[in-house]
Amino acid sequence: MVTLVGAGPGGRGLLTIAGAEALRQADVVIYDRLVSADILALIPENAVRVDAGKENSRHTLPQEEMNELLVKYARGGGNVVRLKGGDCFLFGRGGEECEFLKLHGIPFRVVPGVTSALAAPAFAGIPVTHRDFCASVHIVTAHAKKNGPLKIDYESLVRLRGTLVFLMGVTALSEVCAGLLAAGIEPDTPAAVVENGARPNQRKAVSTVAALPERAREMTLKSPAVIVVGRVCTLSGAIDWFTPLPLHGKTIAVTRPKERAGSLSQKLRALGAEVLECPCIESVLRTDLSELRGALGGVFDWAVFTSPTGVRMAVRALREIGHDLRALYGMKLAATGKATAEVLAEYGLTADLIPGTYDGAHLAEALLKEVPDGGAVLLLRAAGGSPELPERLRKAGITAADIRLYDTRPPAGGVPGLRERLAAGTVDAAAFTSASTVRGFLQAAQGCDLSGLAAVCIGQQTAREAERGGLTVKIAKNATIDDLTNCILEVLSDV
Ligand code: SAH
Repeated sequence: MVTLVGAGPGGRGLLTIAGAEALRQADVVIYDRLVSADILALIPENAVRVDAGKENSRHTLPQEEMNELLVKYARGGGNVVRLKGGDCFLFGRGGEECEFLKLHGIPFRVVPGVTSALAAPAFAGIPVTHRDFCASVHIVTAHAKKNGPLKIDYESLVRLRGTLVFLMGVTALSEVCAGLLAAGIEPDTPAAVVENGARPNQRKAVSTVAALPERAREMTLKSPAVIVVGRVCTLSGAIDWFTPLPLHGKTIAVTRPKERAGSLSQKLRALGAEVLECPCIESVLRTDLSELRGALGGVFDWAVFTSPTGVRMAVRALREIGHDLRALYGMKLAATGKATAEVLAEYGLTADLIPGTYDGAHLAEALLKEVPDGGAVLLLRAAGGSPELPERLRKAGITAADIRLYDTRPPAGGVPGLRERLAAGTVDAAAFTSASTVRGFLQAAQGCDLSGLAAVCIGQQTAREAERGGLTVKIAKNATIDDLTNCILEVLSDV
């Protein structure tokens, strides 16, 4: 089965749910240039990735070869996804690919995408139709076949009085505007170019048909861009909403492990930022769980969880040695913070203790008040955790069994793509939620100049680690994602 998927104009947010689902089920993905990294990140790790742009020395594959490639992979079996920018059928040659597949008896389906023809204007505050201005919108290619002259029927387009959207038109912008003027369009008809529409680096020029080419040249607007012609362009100031977002144009590296990056990334994207999800640590369950097995023979008053991952790892580790959460029966449960307590709640457990401030010292303080004299505490956490917590407990005469369930380490596959962006100096900030993510980041960034980068941290220990690495550090007021987000806003927004 071949699935043609429209990837939308930019990031993952404008990929359809059906498109994302197809990618997750894919065995082979053949994608075009310019499909964004966060969409490619949805492709399963063991799927074959084919960069159609790299298959050939020319930067696009001739269509015949593309068709052959599709058939070749489809014959290999499994789910083949053909991922295209915008919508697959709007100047995407998806039609030709379907014809070819049909000819070869290969089943296919089509998942339409959000086209740049509509999305780029929308992200620039231009509604392509509006009852006060027009009753139609016309989407036109300004790409000439084999470098010949454009074959555009300007007279008809001008007569229709609808909004005109030209794709592939940046190099031909002067020619298009001249053609419209020659066909009698009012020279002061509003017109715009939207470059990198719906992307973090979007720019736009708004002018008139007569003056637009000059304006676009001044701004050195380049492909990919759409040209919009029509009175609807006058709204682009009043209802502009995307580029004014406080983090528009900023790039932030989110270094948390993959499974925990979601909520922070979402908040930052909603504020207009480009988010680079680059997990700098990975948690791996230990193969030797004899410490845990040994501890289960003892009697403990409390079980202590110091992170959401700690809870998940405890569940996995218990199952690994043939037990389950009932092994903790009779113990009270302590969680370092709300996020940890929430994961306990997923397993139907209620935390009996959550200290107000999230760090080892506060957790120890809170526990000392609760644990009976001569009591015993089971710490279920990562190897190499801070010794502060068990030491404080032991000093007070409490037995603390510090069970090492898992290791945190830099991801086995490295941190793909991060170095390139750091070397290009296009990362404005990195968000750190633990000292281990700082270490993983610094390791991945070795040799890069990080002087322009703000390290925004949760917790003193994290900040100390970042300072040791020579980073410019800002600490969030509290250990919450909201405060981390606010701190990033303070550091990066121009207001
Ligand atoms: N199928 C695509 C269009 C492919 S033709 C779609 O539906 O969007 C390639 C042209 O699309 C580019 O030359 C440019 O005009 C336009 N384009 C693609 N992505 C764009 C973006 N993010 N912003 C502005 N124009 C874009």
